Amino acid sequence: MSFTEKIKTYAKSLGFDLVGVSPAEVPSPDRKKFFLQWLEKGSAGEMNYLKKNAEKRIDPRLVLPRAQSIISVGMNYFTDIPLRATFLEKGKGWISRYAWGDDYHDHLKEKLLKLLAFIKSESRKPVEGKVYVDTGPVLEREVGGRAGLGWQGKNTNLISRKIGSWFFLGEILLDVELTYDEPIPDFCGTCNRCIEACPTGAITEPYVLDPRRCISYLTIELKDNIPVESRPLLGNHIFGCDICQDVCPWNRKAPATSETSFLPREGLVAPSLLSLLRLGEEEFRTFFKKNPIKRVKRKGFLRNVVVALGNSRDPDLAKPLELALKDPEPLIRSHAVWALGQLGGSKAQQVLERALSSEVNPQVIEEIKRALEAM
Ligand code: SF4
Ligand code: SF4
Repeated sequence: MSFTEKIKTYAKSLGFDLVGVSPAEVPSPDRKKFFLQWLEKGSAGEMNYLKKNAEKRIDPRLVLPRAQSIISVGMNYFTDIPLRATFLEKGKGWISRYAWGDDYHDHLKEKLLKLLAFIKSESRKPVEGKVYVDTGPVLEREVGGRAGLGWQGKNTNLISRKIGSWFFLGEILLDVELTYDEPIPDFCGTCNRCIEACPTGAITEPYVLDPRRCISYLTIELKDNIPVESRPLLGNHIFGCDICQDVCPWNRKAPATSETSFLPREGLVAPSLLSLLRLGEEEFRTFFKKNPIKRVKRKGFLRNVVVALGNSRDPDLAKPLELALKDPEPLIRSHAVWALGQLGGSKAQQVLERALSSEVNPQVIEEIKRALEAM
């Protein structure tokens, strides 16, 4: 068995579903130009980490000077739970599948470090390597595509013919030459389902995503106000979206993961929006400990919950939203004003008038006045 085959066999034994190897090269001039132009246009929005180390993302040798190979791995997180349509009941929110279980970063990193230790122990000469999961300076999908894990679909996700696109990616940069895999062809064909289904038009053309319009960006990456014109488009999404993966035919027969840490925690598949609205700071930290949602903190998450409640247009939610109007966090109060304006009706009006005459909301007073005028 060759060294590369040994590495792949061990990686599979650790629970990785996909493993491929590519040379540690800069992408083709076309891909490099595309990425840099994409950044120049401001498409990265508030994702400053993408701009900060753009050159390193392009050239792996700026991260590991003698890098020769990149091992890309994929770990399936699809749990055998039906598509969102089953859960589109009134008062429920939607959380992306990847955030139902434990945070994948630590989990994948631990396994990649084991893989690196194995490589070092099996190599005849000293090996240097660096491990990345999501946050490192690596163009993960680009590199994974070169390693033959899948092709980048029109929705820009990496799609495997074996397991679809519900998988996490990780990499090891190595100063060792290995046997390289070939990229696989594009199997999107004439399909355009993801583009047609995207509720915000974020896939501006096949293979091009404008994250600033994407619900995942708006509900996860964006830390401050959600642009008013985007709020109605979020629907009941409170953390991520995934519609463009739900509709992808390559996900129709996605196998279920055997990884128990990705199984949904109780209450995270289509949770009740009202129960989330009541989460205090301490409860939030306890409930989302070791879960990806903790990243957006309580203020970001409840901002999203409040927007989803506004999008329900259910006038009976005026009273619960009054609680959000008194939240210590100005970001939540401000979005609660918008949500009450969306509900409309006499109950929402009364809540806003009460807030106007109280002194708890000085920062949002102008917003309240505008909302009342528009009602
Ligand atoms: S995640 Fe949702 S908003 Fe973003 S591109 Fe896919 S369908 Fe569109
Ligand atoms: S939905 Fe169709 S076009 Fe979009 S990524 Fe999947 S196969 Fe490609």
